[in-house]
Amino acid sequence: MGFEPQSSSAYSNLDSILVSDLQDNEEEQIFCSYASWLEKHPSALDKFEEMMSIAKLKEVVVFLDYDGTLSPIVDDPDQAHMTDAMRTAVNEVASFFPTAIVSGRSRKKVSEFVRLRNVYYAGSHGMDISTPKGSSKTQDQKHQTKAVDEKGNQVVHFHPAEDFLPTLKEIIQVLKENVLRVEGSKIEDNMFCISVHYRLVKNEKEVGILRKMVESIMEAYPNFHISGGKKVIEIRPNISWDKGCAVQYLLGTLGFDNFEKIVPLYIGDDTTDEDAFKVIRHIGQGFPIIVSSKAKETEACYSLRDPDEVLFFLKRLAKWKKSLV
Ligand SMILES: [Mg+2]
Repeated sequence: MGFEPQSSSAYSNLDSILVSDLQDNEEEQIFCSYASWLEKHPSALDKFEEMMSIAKLKEVVVFLDYDGTLSPIVDDPDQAHMTDAMRTAVNEVASFFPTAIVSGRSRKKVSEFVRLRNVYYAGSHGMDISTPKGSSKTQDQKHQTKAVDEKGNQVVHFHPAEDFLPTLKEIIQVLKENVLRVEGSKIEDNMFCISVHYRLVKNEKEVGILRKMVESIMEAYPNFHISGGKKVIEIRPNISWDKGCAVQYLLGTLGFDNFEKIVPLYIGDDTTDEDAFKVIRHIGQGFPIIVSSKAKETEACYSLRDPDEVLFFLKRLAKWKKSLV
């Protein structure tokens, strides 16, 4: 048997003990704040039975972010591998439920990390989606192209930001010529967006210089905007498309237009996942689950502390489905 984390209620008890032992310590405030946040965003492990009683008669559709959700956040973004245990769990979940990975990474990169053929991939914050049939909606079709994947299967690629590709290539070149002078910085080409990682930049002063450099370069590109993530500066084209739109596109494309019959479940830790949480809340039934061990502003209704708890939740989800079959 592998390691299985305690449920968050167990952590909450531990937190209470620590609080009483840490009078006048600033950690007390952090623990108190997390405990009260947990009341509003309860652990998906603690609420599992309740959630599944709703899901029982519906079709569960699973959406998963990658970094910080299926893999831990690491210093070198190229080394953000998922464990074999996580891959097995995702594989098992995907054998029972339609499952999509929605990441800020390029679709190619995230699929190389996940290495599963039974999941759908949406890269570049949902700006690069590949599905077997694509969407039949007129507004989607103009961004779709038919292709053949490496196994010879027909697929449809959806690229709503395709027009921005030449400029993205230019921006990457300019960034490489400038920001890489800040030691520890790393540029990642995510195809339809760019990440400037600074986890390995040695101090705040250098991070400030890096940030100013990126802002200054991007002044020449008003059709793009800068946003932030975990130790990363993100550059994205100004289109009204986000992970929430990607969830809607995938649901429609995969034949889940009738929201009455489905329960979408989305697990993610990023600010960009908030758009997907909003869509799931709007659908009215579904489970937006944030991965966080700290209290933070979120649209999610449930929480899991870290990728270990995500693993435990996914294993439990597969086990639950098996018990129904
Ligand atoms: Mg993430």
